[in-house]
Amino acid sequence: MSIDLHCHSTISDGTLTPTQLVRLAHANGCTLMALTDHDHTAGLIEARKMADQLDIKFINGVEISVSWRGRTIHIIGLNIALEDTTLQNLLAQVRAGRLLRLRAISDKLAKKGIIGAYDGTIALATNAEMVTRTHIADYLVNSGHVRKKADAFRKYLGDGKSCSVKHQWAGLSETVAAIHHAGGIAVIAHPMRYDLSATARRNLFSDFKECGGEAIEVHSGRTNLNDRLNYALLAQQFGFLASSGSDFHREGDYGGGQLGCCPQLPPICKPVWTLFS
Ligand code: AMP
Ligand code: MN
Ligand code: MN
Ligand code: MN
Repeated sequence: MSIDLHCHSTISDGTLTPTQLVRLAHANGCTLMALTDHDHTAGLIEARKMADQLDIKFINGVEISVSWRGRTIHIIGLNIALEDTTLQNLLAQVRAGRLLRLRAISDKLAKKGIIGAYDGTIALATNAEMVTRTHIADYLVNSGHVRKKADAFRKYLGDGKSCSVKHQWAGLSETVAAIHHAGGIAVIAHPMRYDLSATARRNLFSDFKECGGEAIEVHSGRTNLNDRLNYALLAQQFGFLASSGSDFHREGDYGGGQLGCCPQLPPICKPVWTLFS
């Protein structure tokens, strides 16, 4: 069984349409997948249609931007009901701030002599509601201001870098509550990528547990065996189910693994997908 419960389409900052994404996952041997666009569920109906045609089991997903103790973290909702208004209202609120943030980042870039980032970035986003830093980085590459996207984050856009802007996303407890209201399961996305001290990580996991969060990703993108063992143990200690996803955005991209094929989880894990079968 080949499983991937985290990937992105053109609805947020991926480069494949939901249909193309499901086709590629299928071609890569995937048998169970979730589409988890940032802060948006508009790709799920199209993706499910293709998954049904290809006989892949499909789970509705979303990756929600959350502010927790002054940091940005990502919480995934799996198996959510699309029509749930509590969840949709929360997602709409999170998306509403994105254009304002783009304006603030573009103003900072302009002070560094990089003009036109606002319009240039909007022109690159396939979904005007979902302008992400990935799109701003693409603009900076396309306009010749940096050589590659990683440089855009290192120099300008990464947290705390010269043109970054602190942004208030959704709260942790309201996010978990909205996912639950929609009948879903809440998962901490890529906990190994947040640059947290051991203490901060324990705080995150216990806050999440207290909110009723159920799972963490034990594998994300390109983890190694050591990461997976560490996070499998943490999941066990905190009583979390284990999830697994490529975080695929586009071929060969930052952080993302190959779509549709994630490595086996350590045997001590209780996989989150046992809830879906
Ligand atoms: P946003 O939600 O607009 O802040 O954008 C976050 C997205 O930017 C993430 O989901 C990643 O896809 C991408 N991202 C974050 N950090 C990096 C990085 N260092 N290099 C390339 N892409 C990144
Ligand atoms: Mn992304
Ligand atoms: Mn993420
Ligand atoms: Mn992601």
